[in-house]
Amino acid sequence: MLIKYSVSLMVCWLPLSGAAQVICVLGSGASSYKASADQRPSADAMQLVARANAAAKTICVSNCPEVVVFRNTTASNLMLIADAGRAKLVYAPMVFAAVHDRYGDAGIVALVAHALGHALDDGIGAAWIDKAWTTELRADSWAGCTLARSSLSSAEVQAALGALADYPSPSHPKWNFRLQAIGAGYTHCGGAGSKLGAPK
Ligand SMILES: [Zn+2]
Repeated sequence: MLIKYSVSLMVCWLPLSGAAQVICVLGSGASSYKASADQRPSADAMQLVARANAAAKTICVSNCPEVVVFRNTTASNLMLIADAGRAKLVYAPMVFAAVHDRYGDAGIVALVAHALGHALDDGIGAAWIDKAWTTELRADSWAGCTLARSSLSSAEVQAALGALADYPSPSHPKWNFRLQAIGAGYTHCGGAGSKLGAPK
């Protein structure tokens, strides 16, 4: 049975039919991904995705897309795929384990927040979003906003930043640009600026 994690993040950004479309890959091996190897997620991963999603829901409130989660050994780190009207989040279990070992829960929450940031970006505008930012920087900014809503300690915010810095997409700019976008979202969504700084 498929374990389905349904939340409401905006529905309108996803095509309701047609081929699955890869929206974001936090790694460089996207071409090796085989959807046929999708498996149900672990309970631990689901719990952390749920934590990020609960925070994202405080942003999109009642108009949020359905998110489904899969574990897949052929996935490149963490992938967000638009598939049949749903946001499909696919994670590589070895990578999630490595991120968790180094950065704890906050590291996983941060990477998921970035992926969900693409969905938020498609449906919501915000005054702090710089028009010059690329899609990846806007998703980072929404990740910052989501992290601000995640009740993280200062140490957890640093861990979250470390995980984001360690797992960029191939098209991400340098970290200082990313930190600016993440910080803008974080502070505008109620996060304490004092918790931000260079990742360890
Ligand atoms: Zn992305």
